[in-house]
Amino acid sequence: MYKEVNFGRVFIGRFEFGKDLFDSIKEFCKQKNISLGVFSIIGAVKKAKCGYYDQDSKKYVVCVNIEKKLEITSCIGNISMKDGEIFPHAHITWADLEGNVYGGHLMNGTEIFAAEFYIQELKGAQLKRQMDIETGLPLWVA
Ligand code: ZN
Repeated sequence: MYKEVNFGRVFIGRFEFGKDLFDSIKEFCKQKNISLGVFSIIGAVKKAKCGYYDQDSKKYVVCVNIEKKLEITSCIGNISMKDGEIFPHAHITWADLEGNVYGGHLMNGTEIFAAEFYIQELKGAQLKRQMDIETGLPLWVA
């Protein structure tokens, strides 16, 4: 399934030092009432936490949970509706001093050192997530 959409508002800025990255994205989208969109973030963190979706058990497992000063080499995601709420879905990679990279599905527990964001609102359609039996994931439905 897919929807054809149009560009809406565009926001560029940075999230606050010391805050949780996932919450910062979610709060900003709620504050600006962005119910559909895409985003990217670069910066650095003091703590990193993300998950891996285990396709066999159909559960998220924590795959990275470290207190380390890391670069956000990439964080991309989308915004849609889940259970009547604005819901960001983000994947992230971090790099350490040696250039080792960690990454996965962004969860609460990533502490911002610096985070520069670009958020593109999309208009003209709504995307809602609903539990998908085949995958066990809350996927977009038509
Ligand atoms: Zn994910």
